[in-house]
Amino acid sequence: MATQKRDLEVWKFGGASLADAAAIARAVALIRKHDRPLVVVASALGGITDLLLQGAAAATSGGDAEARRAAAEFLRRHRDVARSLVPAGAARRRLLATIDASAREFRELCVAIGVLGHLAPRASDLLVSRGERISAAMVAAALSQARRRAAFVDATDIVVTDDHHGGAAPNLAATGSRARARLKPLLATATIAVVPGFIGRAPDGSITTLGRGGSDLTATLLARALGAKRVVCWKDVPGILTADPRLVSEARLIPQLHHREAAEVAHYGAKVLHPRALIPIAGTRITLHVRSFINPDQPGTEVSARKSLSDYPVKALAIVRGQAIVTVAGKGMVGVHGIAARTFVAVDAERLSVSTIFQASSESSIGFTLPEAEADRAVTSLKTAFRDELASGLIDNITARRGMAVIAVVGDGMVGAPGIAARVFTALADGGINVVAIAQGSSERNISFAVTSDQASEAVRRVHDAFQLSKIGGGRAPAAPRTDVVLLGFGRVGRALADQIGSANGHAMVRVVGLLDRSGYIFEPRGISRRRLSELASRKDAGALLADLGGRGVPSSEALAFMAGHAVSRPVLVDVTSEETSDLLRAALGSGFSVVLANKKPLAGSWGSYEQLLAASANGNCQLKYEATVGAGLPIIDTYHKLAETGDRVLRVDGCVSGTLMYVVSAVSAGKPFSQAVREAVDKGYAEPDPRDDLSGRDAARKALILARLLGYRGTAPTPDDLVPRRLRNLPFDRFMARLREVDAEWRARVAQEAAKGRVLRYVVSATPRAVSARLTAVPITSPIGALQGTRNLVAFTTSRYSSEPLVVSGPGAGAQVTAAGILNDIYSLAQSARRRVLASEADR
Ligand code: ADP
Ligand code: ASP
Ligand code: MG
Repeated sequence: MATQKRDLEVWKFGGASLADAAAIARAVALIRKHDRPLVVVASALGGITDLLLQGAAAATSGGDAEARRAAAEFLRRHRDVARSLVPAGAARRRLLATIDASAREFRELCVAIGVLGHLAPRASDLLVSRGERISAAMVAAALSQARRRAAFVDATDIVVTDDHHGGAAPNLAATGSRARARLKPLLATATIAVVPGFIGRAPDGSITTLGRGGSDLTATLLARALGAKRVVCWKDVPGILTADPRLVSEARLIPQLHHREAAEVAHYGAKVLHPRALIPIAGTRITLHVRSFINPDQPGTEVSARKSLSDYPVKALAIVRGQAIVTVAGKGMVGVHGIAARTFVAVDAERLSVSTIFQASSESSIGFTLPEAEADRAVTSLKTAFRDELASGLIDNITARRGMAVIAVVGDGMVGAPGIAARVFTALADGGINVVAIAQGSSERNISFAVTSDQASEAVRRVHDAFQLSKIGGGRAPAAPRTDVVLLGFGRVGRALADQIGSANGHAMVRVVGLLDRSGYIFEPRGISRRRLSELASRKDAGALLADLGGRGVPSSEALAFMAGHAVSRPVLVDVTSEETSDLLRAALGSGFSVVLANKKPLAGSWGSYEQLLAASANGNCQLKYEATVGAGLPIIDTYHKLAETGDRVLRVDGCVSGTLMYVVSAVSAGKPFSQAVREAVDKGYAEPDPRDDLSGRDAARKALILARLLGYRGTAPTPDDLVPRRLRNLPFDRFMARLREVDAEWRARVAQEAAKGRVLRYVVSATPRAVSARLTAVPITSPIGALQGTRNLVAFTTSRYSSEPLVVSGPGAGAQVTAAGILNDIYSLAQSARRRVLASEADR
């Protein structure tokens, strides 16, 4: 008996490990290989608890069809498993009868709930309990089938809880003695007890649940009761990771954690363990292992009384969303005794449990967080408790702020390590993340802070980076963080860019993870493969929208928020649309995206909107780059910055920045009829589908304004010379093209007149800090602009240093390929600055 006890293990299989018949068969195979004493705790099959709860929720609001569907799905999934795991015979019949009865009872309960119109926690617990019970019964049957002695033991006979339905607390002593009485005889005969997780029984005999994810707690309760050696939780992750892998793609396995640390990680919302799972075994010699069901040979995470990884003062980050901060505030509170105590008594009276208590900016308030749904009850209870103080003005108000997330930075090594808080808050400040409140760390083993939900994912990533958590356990962090690109618009330029990213082998660290168009989005956090991209490109070419190509049809702002909330690394949003996207871009910058523009409109609107966009990017590490807006791939903005950085002063910029206008005007100057030049520009794909968009000069004017603003110009946009005569402006495209010949003679005359003076026509933009223009002008044929041909662009910088002869940047300035190249350049420069930051912080360590 003594050896048996020392060797005893409790294995818990989570929902993902019991998803279907194949998964259960693998679980059974793992159990069979283990020849020591064992108790098994089973969760419901993956997704079943949600299914039952959703069906019931639908029933309360009259959705009987949905409840019926849930019952049918419940029946189907369990029957499938039973049929494929247990051969025809008495055992299978028993199982199928239980499944049928459960589904029927579920239906009946739903009907009753529909009549009542609400779902009390007590009824809800009874309803979901069948998920775990059936699952455990099936595992027991499958084990017997595999010739291991096994018995189903109902948890409601063992786990004694209080009557707090929906999140009951176990009674350790009572549970301990029942567990020993029920399970020891089975262990003595080498029988594996299979116990449903998650559920227990209240003193009044009703069924309770331990709160979502409660099977973890069932396992540690049983381990404590039986003095087991270890608990193993088999999950769909390799173990406990440094952060939720759905948020941080660089999250890594933590090889070992102290009980206390794991308890904090769980308490602060890392879904990987139930918040109270560590309580029964804290302070004991029982170890808990979180292991990969997918790779059962890997050791996973050991949670024990050992201390290791002392180089890492911070080991993990946890996050709880959907929180509200409730504040009791009033100047009269300073120094008044007992307000804090009364606050928490009032909250406790409502059986609400506060997750974090916050330090106020001044002494005159007390704040705490709890789930949003409970905020109203807390506020009402507090208002009653402090009725007199509110009336007398001692307390000014009691408020709830919703939409918050609480992030906990956890690690034993933080005690006594100086500067941890500073590192956390510097990383957040660098990311432009606004910390709403900071928790009073009683344990010093964690720092928690609250941020608004939309900034939470980025906050987690920043702190994860700041502590180099991607290297924990000796693993090498990638040499540079990846750069994840999301394309806003997937037209010609977007497709050329996707292709260039795919074929740039040396830069495997840049990949496309998302596409957005007017219809919806496609998001692949691991990167959209090159094949899929080119397949999507050809479907788009044929006129399809992303929503038709497997994308989700939601507005772009929603799509971006969704992506920002996922495991994106150094995300960059590339705008290749020609829409007014300023609002969206600002939102992206605010949620951690850098932005690269080929789209000129957001930079060429009102001064106010331009300034707001710049301000959004000045905040934190998110940058705004827009090389491709002027001169496509030519380094024009870049040249300006280099001149400015080296102390030169740019006095004026002149140039030809429209490929189409260059082509048309230079061809006309060389003797071609205007109508023919325009036709060729359209046919060769230089011009917009309707060439009037270019000929109007509007596009050139936008570029001029972007250049002028770079120089400090704050005035209005220039009114460009329009090369389309007024009478042709509003014609349908075909009529317009047909009548274009009417203007040929006029152009011929003008060209001849200038040629006589040694001059040619060019469409020239000019920018200074005080003025900006976009004009058709005549320039000497010998000047750099006069010598320019084809679609080439040219920009001349006149500066303090280049005063007599300007610095000229010239080359091909139009077309999807070169525009994509300009964008790619911006993306690489963002990726490189991220890399420099990583190397710098490595040197600090
Ligand atoms: P079970 O199948 O045992 O119920 P859960 O699904 O409850 O397992 O927990 C595992 C999930 O927890 C993972 O799929 C992962 O998405 C999430 N998770 C959140 N934070 C962490 C973390 N720090 N480490 C590992 N997984 C985490
Ligand atoms: N099945 C329950 C849930 O989904 C309990 C658990 O999985 O531990 O929350
Ligand atoms: Mg769970």
